[in-house]
Amino acid sequence: MGKVIKNICFVVLVVIIFIVLQSVIFQTSPTQNEVELFLKENSCNPYMEGTDHVTEYQCAYYLRRHTTMVFGKIVNAKFPFFIYTPFHYFNYKSSTNEFHTYVSVNTRDNGRLVYNPVNGLFMGLPEILIQGANKEEDKPVISSKIIEENDKLQWAKMPVSYYITKDVCGIYETNKIRRAFQRVQEATNGAVSFEEIDNLNQSNIYVHCSFLEDCYEKTIDIREDLGVVYYYESICDHTSGIAQIKNIDGNQIIRADIEMIGLAGFSETDRKGMSGFYVGSCGHPTTEIHEILHTFDYNHVNDSTSIMYRSGDIVGYTIQNEGGCLGSDIPIDEWIVKDLIQTYG
Ligand SMILES: [Zn+2]
Repeated sequence: MGKVIKNICFVVLVVIIFIVLQSVIFQTSPTQNEVELFLKENSCNPYMEGTDHVTEYQCAYYLRRHTTMVFGKIVNAKFPFFIYTPFHYFNYKSSTNEFHTYVSVNTRDNGRLVYNPVNGLFMGLPEILIQGANKEEDKPVISSKIIEENDKLQWAKMPVSYYITKDVCGIYETNKIRRAFQRVQEATNGAVSFEEIDNLNQSNIYVHCSFLEDCYEKTIDIREDLGVVYYYESICDHTSGIAQIKNIDGNQIIRADIEMIGLAGFSETDRKGMSGFYVGSCGHPTTEIHEILHTFDYNHVNDSTSIMYRSGDIVGYTIQNEGGCLGSDIPIDEWIVKDLIQTYG
């Protein structure tokens, strides 16, 4: 009799240990950074823009079938481990009635977040996406069109709060982003003001960072016959920033998103050398300011001396020669400063 009870106790104990272990191993949620780093490398096509729901569904399906979680890390895995995949389908109809299949992930630092499974782009918070979609459905289409055409969009309130994913962006870029916000604030004498907060969910502008692989090349060419050594440094022509207004209410901006793109292989990713955000920037926060102004609904202009010139989000082909950085710090255009003061002052 005592032996039977002992055996039952043993079985129960094994089951309990198994349940505890599997919940610790497989059910610890990843952090937002973990999700974004994983999607950067494992989304179907990081360069694809304007995705449709068929491609999205295929990618979402693939992601769900080939991932699992181990101690809060997302790893590639197949049957049977994919039952612990952190990715869930998130079906969503946009305000323009386009149907999308995104994925949502429960993160342990910032709650549930929605991503595009094709290019890994952060789409927003599920509640805000759903809210935005419903709100637009209630409104007759014509009225929202009139608003778009007649009224420039403007931020709903001052100060505009922002959140930076500091551990991904690194100290150098985090400070450059802060400097950019400060420059806009100072240029407008505080008519436009910003506040950095530590809560992604409550922030108006979500600033995050990503890194581009295989873009930087350093070649050393030794011409022995001439007795000289040439150093070539080149960087590919790449997008250095993306800004998107994510959520509006009438003509008021509620949320925006800025992604700063640095080069992989430098201090942030490989812990060596200079910052992957320094390359090609001369250290000026020009791209950062340019992206911030996009979130104020300023578009590109044709004037090459303007901070809103198209190349503001693109890094050129070559690294500046010595002295090439002189005079490259572009001030905010006077007409933009005036317009900002008039709107928010
Ligand atoms: Zn731009």
